[in-house]
Amino acid sequence: MEKIRYFDHAATTATKEEVLKEMLPYFSLNYGNPSSMYSVGRKSRKAVEEAREKVAKAIHAEPKEIYFTSCGSESDNLAIKGVAYANRERGNHIITTKIEHPAVLHTCQHLEREGFQVTYLNVDSDGLISLEELENSICDETILISIMFANNEIGTIEPIKEIGEIAKRHHIYFHTDAVQAIGNVRINLKELNIDLLSMSAHKFYGPKGMGALYVKTGVKFEKIQDGGHQERNMRAGTENVAGIVGIGKAIELAYQNFEEYNKKLTDLRDYYISQVEKKIPDAKLNGHRTKRLPGNANISFKNIDAEGLLLNLDIKGICASSGSACSSGSINPSHVLVAIGLEPEIAQGSLRITFGDDNNKQDVDFLIESLIQIVEKLRK
Ligand SMILES: *Cc1c(COP(=O)(O)O)cnc(C)c1O
Repeated sequence: MEKIRYFDHAATTATKEEVLKEMLPYFSLNYGNPSSMYSVGRKSRKAVEEAREKVAKAIHAEPKEIYFTSCGSESDNLAIKGVAYANRERGNHIITTKIEHPAVLHTCQHLEREGFQVTYLNVDSDGLISLEELENSICDETILISIMFANNEIGTIEPIKEIGEIAKRHHIYFHTDAVQAIGNVRINLKELNIDLLSMSAHKFYGPKGMGALYVKTGVKFEKIQDGGHQERNMRAGTENVAGIVGIGKAIELAYQNFEEYNKKLTDLRDYYISQVEKKIPDAKLNGHRTKRLPGNANISFKNIDAEGLLLNLDIKGICASSGSACSSGSINPSHVLVAIGLEPEIAQGSLRITFGDDNNKQDVDFLIESLIQIVEKLRK
């Protein structure tokens, strides 16, 4: 059995030892319900509030603007449905893009079935939206713009600051799915007009099943799950105390080691892209060359079927993805690759490599050598 080399950090990451260590006592020793008045409960409450402070601090928000959820998908649902339902009397129009994660796309489609109007913005061949098209799509009925911070498949980083300015000028709420951006991009909410922001712990070395939603003070939104009064009455359900401790620690670590981590990933990414472009013919980089996540390299290989590529890589112990994990297994080319205008034959041969903590240059060399061999073999 080959050593496992993991290049799929956009799908998920391993929980860091230090994160796990802080979480463990909250499964057993400190098991109190944060809503209980006695000491055991107060201990849990304290841990939850400390984690809230850490999450808020990492993105320059206030602790009371952070709501804990069960995942990035729930955060997206809560943000979009929460704003849509609470602002129905103001209007029924939402603007998003064609390249969102299914958690946003399918939420918007759900709202369309309930009578909301949704505009799905196009993107250019790099995956960037047009600010002009965005502004032209705004009408009196528009209540919400939901545009992802960075794309999970092609890594393109959208013009978030400019989008925020447009939203503010038109008095429209702006939600961003920042699940891929947290830990990979510095986010200062004092400088960006973002009203709601989704994140997910397992994408930045925290536990799976743990998300958070930032909601700026004053934003009118409503809960989508009925039950108890947890999370200031906005998200019912007994808090996942261990998970909350985990997301707090993970985001703290992510921004403590930010520069070093960012440089490491950028170097590995640029090395990989340049080597592949040099050594493999008919390889095309997808996504913007510079406005992209530090660890993302999505490349299409002409006359290749990504499924065969992934199987052959797997034999060598290499974990990678042909698109987003959520859409792999389906035969249709991913909606993101279609939106950037790739011909189906090219989109079919797209390989997403996402680097992380546990990768080094030797691993990347092994990946490149393996790819050269596999692509040559499959093209024969
Ligand atoms: C992974 C991901 C999600 C979903 O997060 P989960 O915690 O897995 O539900 C949403 N949006 C983007 C951009 C993602 O990459």
